Amino acid sequence: MDCIFCKIVSGNIPARKIEETQKSLAFLDAFPLTKGHTLVIPKTHYAKIQEMTKEDSSDLFELAKTITNKLESLFPASLIAIHNGKESGQEVPHVHIHLIPRNSSDKAGPVHSLFTSRPKFTDMELDEIVNTLRNTK
Ligand code: AMP
Ligand code: ZN
Repeated sequence: MDCIFCKIVSGNIPARKIEETQKSLAFLDAFPLTKGHTLVIPKTHYAKIQEMTKEDSSDLFELAKTITNKLESLFPASLIAIHNGKESGQEVPHVHIHLIPRNSSDKAGPVHSLFTSRPKFTDMELDEIVNTLRNTK
């Protein structure tokens, strides 16, 4: 499998590693959006979070919490993000959590600023989607 993050896990390409567990690894993003921008990945290759075992996702989130604690001892707050699938902007098809230190003057704005158009839904459409989701396995 030609996966850049699997190659970081196996040591075939270098990374600025911060901390690891048996199942997860945290390292600096090579093209940081802010100082301290970190990626936390499972050591096993998964493209999407719903493929992960409970043990791996739990370990990943625990390491994300540990690193967030470190980052927030240096920076005031963080944007924590996962792109889940190519259509959402995921460029590396190996699950990763972005931990991006933020501050009130970074001008990145709220999550709503990611989307330029804001669709309006009727009550009927909202009822329909919530019912569909409740009935989807
Ligand atoms: P995404 O667009 O959510 O898939 O994020 C992929 C992230 O991986 C981007 O923020 C890249 O800057 C980062 N990245 C790509 N290659 C490397 C690498 N070799 N080492 C560390 N980070 C990388
Ligand atoms: Zn991989």
